[in-house]
Amino acid sequence: MPDTTSPDTTSPRSTVPLRAAVAALPAYVPGARGAAGRVWKLSSNENPYSPLPSVLSAIVEAASEVNRYPDMYATDLVEALAGHVGVGAEQVVVGNGSVAVLQHVLQAVLDAGDEVVFPWRSFEAYPIAVAVAGGHAVTVPVTPDGRLDLPAMAAAVTARTRAVLVCTPNNPTGPVVHAGELETLLAAVPRDVLVVLDEAYLEFVRDPQAPDGLDVLRRHPNVVLLRTLSKAYGLAGLRVGYAVAEPRLAAGIRAVSTPFGVSHVAQRAAIASLAPTAQAELLERVDALVAERARVTDALREQGWDLPVSHANFVWFGLGDRTAACAAEATAAGVLVRPFAGDGLRVSIGEVEANDAFLAVARAWR
Ligand SMILES: *Cc1c(COP(=O)(O)O)cnc(C)c1O
Repeated sequence: MPDTTSPDTTSPRSTVPLRAAVAALPAYVPGARGAAGRVWKLSSNENPYSPLPSVLSAIVEAASEVNRYPDMYATDLVEALAGHVGVGAEQVVVGNGSVAVLQHVLQAVLDAGDEVVFPWRSFEAYPIAVAVAGGHAVTVPVTPDGRLDLPAMAAAVTARTRAVLVCTPNNPTGPVVHAGELETLLAAVPRDVLVVLDEAYLEFVRDPQAPDGLDVLRRHPNVVLLRTLSKAYGLAGLRVGYAVAEPRLAAGIRAVSTPFGVSHVAQRAAIASLAPTAQAELLERVDALVAERARVTDALREQGWDLPVSHANFVWFGLGDRTAACAAEATAAGVLVRPFAGDGLRVSIGEVEANDAFLAVARAWR
């Protein structure tokens, strides 16, 4: 990657002012990338499996057509997703990853200075997306066991609040919200305030108390579901995410979306992934990762760790001041993890060998 931070000495620096909200943005920190030599990349919650042969051939076939623009409305993909979710096509909006879809959701509803309530620590794209959309972030701390504090989030809603972001399972801590507490939040939030349910890790959830997003959306038209093919479906590199919303809201989100935001290759790969046989195979892989999550969690408990209950493809260590040092030890041992300085560290569930390598690192942290 080119180094974009070092000043170019051959041309003068610009004095064009950046928007104050943009100048103040924290940089999005991607998970560490592998250097030379054997490293296990457990830093970005990626799916460790490479694409299915059927998905790979859809990609290869689509590659020969990239001189053409993609289908602007991703008609076939939207149809496939609508069938998959069980809603009408007018309720689905796709985008260049669900991070982009979230940006479009916020741009569709926020005016300058409108408040957006979201948990913290949570997905690091949230403060950026809110600021870029001109909103004002109102953060509500997660509980010591990494759960969203929904009563406190409801209490943080004011007359200026336009949206509430609910990340379930919460990235990076792992717990899900429960259907009952979500219902209480939705009852407390005015009906003209948007509630975004970010379900990026939906397929990894095994908690019977987790809400059924579609059922929630049917009863609460101010809810928007955010989903992605980056995690369970293993297409992080192709960037396909989507929102499911009531048709009028969906049209508003679509109206602000980047034109041609999902590439032709990505559309075809996503459609191939949703084909029944492919989907069955992909969800078997998710089952295997969920089994690995249980194995890793049990082993960590045996080591003496008391961790939040994760329903995603990662685990969270609230290491506080030890975070940076522990992350450095992991890197030295060939395991890339994701530190959040001074707070804690997230470790993705990967292939068995990667998880074993990480368990040895975690034992040394004790
Ligand atoms: C990974 C993730 C996403 C999905 O990102 P994409 O842009 O679809 O790759 C969305 N929300 C959360 C909380 C995530 O962790």
